[in-house]
Amino acid sequence: MHELIVIGGGPAGLAAAAYAVRKRMDALFISKGLGGRTKRQLRLPWVEDYQVIIGAETIQRFRSQLEYLDFMRVRGNVRHIARLEEGFRVEVANGHSYETRTVIVATGANGEMLNIPGEKEFEMRGLCYSTMTYAPLMVDRNVIVVGAEMMALRAVAELSRIATHVTLVAEKAGHLDTPTGQIVLAAPNVSVKRDTHPVEVVGDDFARALVVEREGQREEIPADAIFVERRLIPNSGLVADLAELDECGFVVVDTRNRTSVPGLFAAGDVTNAMTFQVLMGLGDGEKAALSAFDHLLGMGSADFACTRGR
Ligand SMILES: Cc1cc2nc3c(=O)[nH]c(=O)nc-3n(C[C@H](O)[C@H](O)[C@H](O)COP(=O)(O)OP(=O)(O)OC[C@H]3O[C@@H](n4cnc5c(N)ncnc54)[C@H](O)[C@@H]3O)c2cc1C
Repeated sequence: MHELIVIGGGPAGLAAAAYAVRKRMDALFISKGLGGRTKRQLRLPWVEDYQVIIGAETIQRFRSQLEYLDFMRVRGNVRHIARLEEGFRVEVANGHSYETRTVIVATGANGEMLNIPGEKEFEMRGLCYSTMTYAPLMVDRNVIVVGAEMMALRAVAELSRIATHVTLVAEKAGHLDTPTGQIVLAAPNVSVKRDTHPVEVVGDDFARALVVEREGQREEIPADAIFVERRLIPNSGLVADLAELDECGFVVVDTRNRTSVPGLFAAGDVTNAMTFQVLMGLGDGEKAALSAFDHLLGMGSADFACTRGR
């Protein structure tokens, strides 16, 4: 039986695995690919590569620390986690299964897509799902945000401080009429298209406009970049029958990344904690690994209020 299995090759999983290596834990790292969502980089006609802080580079540097990684890595997707009397059995899609005393789930989340013509074609070529990462590149630009919930409002708030104009395309009322919505949408360079549905992304080498429809009328809104900020869908299915999830399906963790099941930890975007960027995911993964280590020592439920390790 292993001491730890880390599931997921994004920033959170990589950091957890690296930390386990440093602690000389008997760990397995199960992931089909490495880098997670950081492998995707937005291309824009006016942006040179050197202007972008590339998550993937951060990950590559991090990964190069992991000289043992290939020895502890199983390539594949996990399809099931079963609880045992003293740990867990983790089953991989290739049919192999592994027993372990602790598990860290770092399977990430994906942005909800529009599923309209042109979306796939222009994804990461002017159309993107991470305003937080790319807003700084939008100086003097006209941009579109699609969404109506808090994520979209935060994106509009961030972009309106940088871009020339932000058009919010909202399919429903969502959170637009909340106090936050009123503050964000009052900015002079923000306009809102309510009850408006995106129907197509059009462009040439890059996305150049979003075609929308309202009450049967179509309109083409030109833009330098389009941000889809609908909602994040967590990849939490593996633990849906084991651990507590919040109302949106994120794995509920405490400040030490413990789930509701002793020995089962979660880190990164799949959790209900706020880890929307690579650096946050890295820290979260390390924290989860330290908690797994503590659990193996029988410190799982200890009160650490005044005993933080350094
Ligand atoms: C388009 C885009 C660009 C971004 N660019 C940046 C950036 O440049 N800088 C930045 O700081 N942040 C960026 N972000 C945000 C950042 O990528 C995420 O916050 C971060 O990747 C989350 O890390 P994670 O490890 O929690 O999840 P992820 O990166 O999503 O990784 C999850 C991993 O788990 C694996 N997995 C899922 N299910 C299973 C399974 N059943 N079995 C095995 N493995 C599984 C996946 O294959 C993946 O490898 C970007 C986000 C997006 C959407």
